Amino acid sequence: MKPSRDTKYSKELLSAIGDLGHATNAELLVQLRSVFPEVSATTVHRATARLADRGKVLEAPVSKHGCLRYDSTTTPHDHFICSVCDGIRNINIAADILPMVSSALGGCKITGKLVIYGTCERCLNRKVTV
Ligand SMILES: [Zn+2]
Ligand SMILES: [Zn+2]
Repeated sequence: MKPSRDTKYSKELLSAIGDLGHATNAELLVQLRSVFPEVSATTVHRATARLADRGKVLEAPVSKHGCLRYDSTTTPHDHFICSVCDGIRNINIAADILPMVSSALGGCKITGKLVIYGTCERCLNRKVTV
């Protein structure tokens, strides 16, 4: 069976998400169009939704503008989001933090993901030099 166009797009999308770590459909459209100029936004939306359905990518916390962001890391992890540049990165602090939060809450079980907001070091440095 020869690979369908969808398979071709999904493959390229997966590698683009892998390169970027976290990516919105808009960012992925730009990437994909550099390889397949004919691809439409709808195609990208459908293909990324399908990748998420199949567990090939995860949904990361949304961007500042509420755009869905996909995550290439499919093992459980938490996130730091810079509120200045909207950059997102993975952090693994749950094992250290959750027992503290849980005991502060009198033993509640924490099941949600942690999202820590702040200003990344790049934005901090930029502010100093401006
Ligand atoms: Zn930043
Ligand atoms: Zn992530």
